[in-house]
Amino acid sequence: MTAPATISRRNLLFGRSAVAAQADRAVPYLAVVGDGCLARNKVDCQSCRDVCPEQVIGFRPRAGGPFLPEVDGDRCSGCGACIDICPVGAIALAERSGDAADA
Ligand code: SF4
Ligand code: SF4
Repeated sequence: MTAPATISRRNLLFGRSAVAAQADRAVPYLAVVGDGCLARNKVDCQSCRDVCPEQVIGFRPRAGGPFLPEVDGDRCSGCGACIDICPVGAIALAERSGDAADA
């Protein structure tokens, strides 16, 4: 018997269907930004945003420093394009760990 599809609060807020959310979960990896990121170290950079084919890397404003990258893990396809473009190798693919990120 197949388990019923569920929908996270995030997907519910953004109007995404349970079917679409479940399809995304079939992708085993997502991009994660590490501490070496230039923007995290007060150097302006948004190269990863520009190269992402899914347009799932957003930048959060902050006072006193460059905007910080944030990957929408629900929509990341795990394609790895952002890894190649990052000038300091700060992005890696990580295995998805279930619905913990939606809590
Ligand atoms: S390309 Fe790399 S260094 Fe630049 S913002 Fe993205 S993660 Fe940070
Ligand atoms: S792995 Fe691909 S889809 Fe995911 S954030 Fe990087 S470029 Fe975008």
